[in-house]
Amino acid sequence: LRADPLPGVAALKGAAGVVLQIRDVTELRRLESVRRDFVSNVSHELKTPIAAISALAETLLDGPLEGPPIARRFLADIEGHADRLHDLVVDVIRLARVESGRDVFDVRRLPVGPVVEDVLRGLRAAATKAEVRLSAVPPPQPAYVRADADALATVLDNLLTNALRHTPPGGRVTVDWNSDAGSEVGEDGPTVKLRVIDTGEGIPAEHLGRVFQRFHRVDPARSREKGGTGLGLAIVKQMLAVFDGSVAVESVVGEGATFTVTLPSA
Ligand code: ADP
Repeated sequence: LRADPLPGVAALKGAAGVVLQIRDVTELRRLESVRRDFVSNVSHELKTPIAAISALAETLLDGPLEGPPIARRFLADIEGHADRLHDLVVDVIRLARVESGRDVFDVRRLPVGPVVEDVLRGLRAAATKAEVRLSAVPPPQPAYVRADADALATVLDNLLTNALRHTPPGGRVTVDWNSDAGSEVGEDGPTVKLRVIDTGEGIPAEHLGRVFQRFHRVDPARSREKGGTGLGLAIVKQMLAVFDGSVAVESVVGEGATFTVTLPSA
């Protein structure tokens, strides 16, 4: 703390000014620590598959291999690790772009039904493989939101992919939403609520508040094994914020999870 006479005031006999400069650096420090954690997490996530690829390639080159089946297995493993690297890099870039505000979104009046149908079509094969019934329950009247079609598709795709991953065979994953007519009027006007409901393993209460944080996983080893990057829900949250939307989760362990997306109605 420095006490300096203010210019001009010093001329007044006996008068002195005090310049008080107080800067709150708490938020800056928090952001810096979040950024450092993120960089360290990304480095760790990148290093693991790179190390595995190097080790597998080295063994292949060292040969002699016992035969083509073993070589094929090694190559398949290399491909798996390369896919993981690819997904991670795509998600890191996607998150960085949306967070920096550099992404250009085409926000317009959008019918919800066709976007949901498109995303479901892309996930049919995965649902069949997982032996999970995947369906949409549209409202009687079409619903319209203000959003970017590709971003809304990414949000739904991430939530549905998670639901399929965490629902055992014989389970159900359902998407439903309300129409404009029945939409809720919140503080910021009418909204449309879309729900992704699964009958899977659910999320323990102590993790519910943290699943939207980058790289937070209930079971890190299983998430990686199932092809998760740990960034899916962080991307969902950030993308929705661009359209004044939000996402929330409810769950009962052993019964399933419900993710609710709220978007401004159009
Ligand atoms: P990941 O790539 O690991 O799926 P996400 O950010 O998409 O990363 O999700 C974070 C974590 O939240 C997951 O690792 C998982 O533990 C949990 N999770 C997300 N969706 C579901 C769901 N539908 N059912 C149970 N757990 C879920």
